[in-house]
Amino acid sequence: MSYRNEVCAACLLLVAGGAAADDTSVCVTNALPAFSTGALYVSNRAPLAPSPAMKLPPGAVAPKGWLRHQLELDATGFVGRMAELSNYLKTEDNGWIDPNGKQGWEEMPYWLRGYGDLGYALNDPAIIAAARKWIEGILACQRPDGYFGPLRLKTDVQGLPDLWPHMLVLDALHAYYEFSGDERVPAFMLKYFKWQNGQPLQAFKVGWGAVRWADNMAVIYWLYNKTGEAWLLDLARKCHEESVDYATGIPNWHNVNLSQGIREPAEYWMQAQEPTLFAATERNYRIIMDTWGQFPGGGFAGDENIRKPYRDPRQGFETCGFVEFMHTFEIMTRISGQPIWSDRCEEIAFNSLPAALTPDHKGLHYITCANCIQLDNTKKGRQFDNQFPMLAYKPGIYNYRCCPHNVGIGWSFYAEELWLATSDRGLCASLYAASEVKAKVADGTEVVVAEATDYPFGETVELRVSTPKPLCFPLYLRVPRWCDGASVKINGHAVDAKATPQSYVVLSREWKDGDTVSLRLPMRVSVRTWPQQKGAVSVDFGPLTFSLAFGEKWQRCGGTDAWPEYEVLPISPWNFGLVLDAQTSAGALEVVRKPGPLAPNPFTPDTAPLTLRAKAKKIPAWTADRDQVVGVLQQSPVLSKEPVETVSLIPMGAARLRITSFPVIGTGADAHEWIAQPPPPKFTASFAEVDHPEALAESAQPSASSDQSVPRFTWWPHKGTAEWVQIEFGQTKNVSSASVYWFDDTGKGGCRVPQSWRLSYRDGDAWKPVESASGYGVEPNQNNSVSFKPVSTTAFRVEVQLRDEVSGGLLNMQFK
Ligand SMILES: [Zn+2]
Repeated sequence: MSYRNEVCAACLLLVAGGAAADDTSVCVTNALPAFSTGALYVSNRAPLAPSPAMKLPPGAVAPKGWLRHQLELDATGFVGRMAELSNYLKTEDNGWIDPNGKQGWEEMPYWLRGYGDLGYALNDPAIIAAARKWIEGILACQRPDGYFGPLRLKTDVQGLPDLWPHMLVLDALHAYYEFSGDERVPAFMLKYFKWQNGQPLQAFKVGWGAVRWADNMAVIYWLYNKTGEAWLLDLARKCHEESVDYATGIPNWHNVNLSQGIREPAEYWMQAQEPTLFAATERNYRIIMDTWGQFPGGGFAGDENIRKPYRDPRQGFETCGFVEFMHTFEIMTRISGQPIWSDRCEEIAFNSLPAALTPDHKGLHYITCANCIQLDNTKKGRQFDNQFPMLAYKPGIYNYRCCPHNVGIGWSFYAEELWLATSDRGLCASLYAASEVKAKVADGTEVVVAEATDYPFGETVELRVSTPKPLCFPLYLRVPRWCDGASVKINGHAVDAKATPQSYVVLSREWKDGDTVSLRLPMRVSVRTWPQQKGAVSVDFGPLTFSLAFGEKWQRCGGTDAWPEYEVLPISPWNFGLVLDAQTSAGALEVVRKPGPLAPNPFTPDTAPLTLRAKAKKIPAWTADRDQVVGVLQQSPVLSKEPVETVSLIPMGAARLRITSFPVIGTGADAHEWIAQPPPPKFTASFAEVDHPEALAESAQPSASSDQSVPRFTWWPHKGTAEWVQIEFGQTKNVSSASVYWFDDTGKGGCRVPQSWRLSYRDGDAWKPVESASGYGVEPNQNNSVSFKPVSTTAFRVEVQLRDEVSGGLLNMQFK
């Protein structure tokens, strides 16, 4: 029993609290311990910091219940049938199989990661075989110098290699190796990394790769741990030192870059062991979330790039952002041994990811928002960074492009990370879902732990251990951050767990075949207040956030019968504020549980297992804007003369249309009227393809005509043409002067100040030039002002003649 004593000594050293019951040592720890030797799975080798937890091989965790059904939906939806839909997966002329092929960038590699792991998680022979075909093609296409994949990518970024899509392929190969044990894979990787190590330093600084080296580094460290080849650590150092700097600040504001990139300092910390590196990942997470993540669901306001003023819950997060953020959190659990990362992962998994897809997984959208009243197939004005429709559900192969190829990692990686191996030869229940795990513990004997639970829709987790012989090992049970009063029974007998929120309960004992553990994670209704969202609130029950359920009308807007595209429109009122004082406290919000077993897919309005009944009042002045996007929140508490109504709230992940951040209704002296918003000015142009005229609504003051930091409108790629851009005020205004600031990127691009321009105003149905204009300047780097005979009008047009052979545009225009 010496091994058991080691475990218990470790507990005593590393954990706080502790109480023994029967022959079980029970402790609570804030982090998984990290031992440098003895692990039963590939773990960090010196000089890397010891690993607290190791990922089990794909296939070791068999998901059950609702999670298995999500994976089955992936298999019958576009993830599983992507080869029928996506030209990026055509094998002809594909550079991932034939290096001379012209096709091939990130799409197939994005898809292959999730698709292969979907096959391993479901143990689906057809999917495993189809993934294997791509893997064989990739393995066969390696060049004598070690490079693999499209030769075109070798010189694709400023003459240097585009190394980004290869990082995704390495991830897929790593998973395939762990599943199959195919020894060709580590040899292939060594050869490739030798080639990568020989690239000029500048190659580490360019392209998407420069902001996403964390993906590459994770595989380098795994290969180092497996082979002990010390030069791999030099390569990892190069990846860290030559790429963008996430260690001292945030180098980039693109949502997917951030979701992947912020873990890079923590990954490199394993090698450098400089505490500021470890802390940098948490700091970057907090910088992002404390300002742009001020709403439920686990994502942030980054519908392409984070933009400073856009932080209301009507902003959204890209589907790639959700699944990459989850992937980062899963890796951070293993690097840090801290339970908080699993909480963050669950928040996205339960509340945001399901609603990013249609219930049948045959469509998804680009952007998912906490407050969202209409998912239509039209482009929006200023709300979103991108000027293409981002809300309708579709396979979206060519318009959403990255997201449908990438989303498969969401549930497949999640299923793999439910259980982790610990460095003291035990097991950790890191994320909860019905499942069965097969893993080596103690002396290397394989045990099976069956997990039965409806979590997150139920609060009990039942574990049953199957072992060929009695074995001493620790079992770590994560206690979520929201959970007060977690309790544990072993073989029906309560143990004094003293569990605290955001910790692990550690059960160390000699486990016998048939032993059971019953974990109860009591869930309560709680209300979160969001001071940065003008005092709005959201309602949680355990790990689930709840949204107002209002009627969804699904309307076909394109696609084929097999792969339809849908808009989702509201058919009942959504503009409610919650009456919290009438309910005295959050605890008075009534939870209604649907009787019977969980539906296979609990993430729909009809099948949601839980409903909350809440008191609310309508706020009539809270309306959609002219783009049918929910109006921004105003200061709570809010006055309402409407009657109190009882409304239903359903889990956020089940609501495709939803209000999740609610104004609070008030009656006291501090309550505010909701001010109906006049429509903002509308901007249109004779032509807009690359840059949208709504950029001019920002009224940003540029520092120069070449200022790339302010939003711009251009007529690009029109050159030498006569064009116009127009502002409609939405009301009549008296105006006697105007100014324009021209965009001109001489030296970088093809836009110059125009040859000439004039100003016209709308008079009835006609456009008339202003009279007595003081002059039409075409100077760069300044406001060009013009005064004229005052007019009373609803709209102006700036009419320009572009110079020959060049385009043009504006950074700002003002009317007084
Ligand atoms: Zn995407």
